[in-house]
Amino acid sequence: MLISKSFIPILKNNPSEAKIKSHQLMLRVGMIKQSSAGIYSWLPLGFKVMKKIEQIVREEQNKIGAQEILMPTIQSSEIWKESGRYEDYGEEMLRIKDRQDREMLYGPTNEELVTDIFRSSIKSYKSLPQLLYHIQWKFRDEIRPRFGIMRCREFYMKDAYSFDVSDEEALFSYNKFFISYLKTFKRLDLTAIPMAADTGPIGGNLSHEFIILAETGESKIFTDKRIFDVESEGTELNKNSLNDLRKKFEQFYSVTDEKFNKEEFETKVNEKNRLITKGIEVGHIFYFGDKYSKPMGGSVDLPEGKKDFVKMGSYGIGVSRLVGAIIEAKYDEKDEVMKWPISVAPYDVSIIPMINKNDISALDKANRINLELEKNNIEAIIDDTDENFSSKIKKMNLIGAPYQIIIGKQSKDDHIEFKEVGKDSKKIKLSEVIKIIKEQKAKY
Ligand code: ATP
Ligand code: MG
Repeated sequence: MLISKSFIPILKNNPSEAKIKSHQLMLRVGMIKQSSAGIYSWLPLGFKVMKKIEQIVREEQNKIGAQEILMPTIQSSEIWKESGRYEDYGEEMLRIKDRQDREMLYGPTNEELVTDIFRSSIKSYKSLPQLLYHIQWKFRDEIRPRFGIMRCREFYMKDAYSFDVSDEEALFSYNKFFISYLKTFKRLDLTAIPMAADTGPIGGNLSHEFIILAETGESKIFTDKRIFDVESEGTELNKNSLNDLRKKFEQFYSVTDEKFNKEEFETKVNEKNRLITKGIEVGHIFYFGDKYSKPMGGSVDLPEGKKDFVKMGSYGIGVSRLVGAIIEAKYDEKDEVMKWPISVAPYDVSIIPMINKNDISALDKANRINLELEKNNIEAIIDDTDENFSSKIKKMNLIGAPYQIIIGKQSKDDHIEFKEVGKDSKKIKLSEVIKIIKEQKAKY
């Protein structure tokens, strides 16, 4: 992609309305544009990153056997009346009427709709477990939308739902999502800690929030530092291994302020391991048994000729919020340098040729390099403008491709100046550049 032809509207300075660095950067490099309070358009750069995150989330859902569906954004109020949440949900629900005067709503979440889909087709325990997910826009009329896409009204979420025959099987499903979340965040190069959470309006009896540490986060957290060392690598997808993994995390006190108990914290965690900080909630999983299946009549036939309500859980990941969360974790706002994890970077590498009006040989070389990179599925962005070198570098540092290739005016030999953002540059052959980038991409 040539910068001159791209739709990446970069601002010279930080927009004054943005209070946290992810919001600043996203406006600064034109990843999003607000259309009204808490509602955004996603421009090419932001959309690219979000789609890559979505794909990683999808792959990790598929790996645990979850099946993708797509439910609509607009729902009928009928099913919400059945579950009893139509009244309970309150002002966060955007309620609308169609031309027949029917009460509709823009879905804030999908427990009711998915239970309705389930009950109409699944009749026997033999078809269980069922793990269904979709990735779809949600609307919650947040009282104070803020921090850009971190807390907005319309946002993109992956929500999954599990249906099982017993509590024991349902916990197995819960644990599958637990590990798939750890893997998902790892591929995004984030350290997310699972924390015991309150079950809130969704209700139920077991819940974890996945939190990444960030000073600008909205959740206050109290944790035992040793939780960062828990290893999930190599855990197999069977009941025992997954239970053990969850226990390994749960042995360390780690909660958000809603569940915080000072006395418990101080007895369970010795002083040197205590960490009180802030974090961003990027995922939330719940087990709630028959909370929805019972009022909505979601039951299956059991082996002995009996019937029972299915046991359900729900599992959310804030796909759009993750774009901001990654920036909070990776953006150095002082030096104005962003380095996207290679797994979700909008471009793998930026090519910065020093062009002078009468000599476009550097640009020619950039184009030739780009062709080679394309053949190897490496995506580059080329600054083909005639701006000076330092402003080109500044721009590319904001766009945040993790690697840079710099082509000087007289660069004739077959070695090129190559740099991983944040490290020193070196002169190497293009084939080596390709090898390095490919290796990194394969890791995630
Ligand atoms: P929060 O406590 O941040 O309001 P929640 O508990 O209401 O979140 P869930 O209903 O569990 O959130 O939704 C699943 C995920 O969707 C959250 O973990 C979060 O990443 C994301 N999310 C929730 N509300 C918003 C929002 N207003 N804007 C952006 N992302 C959101
Ligand atoms: Mg909320």
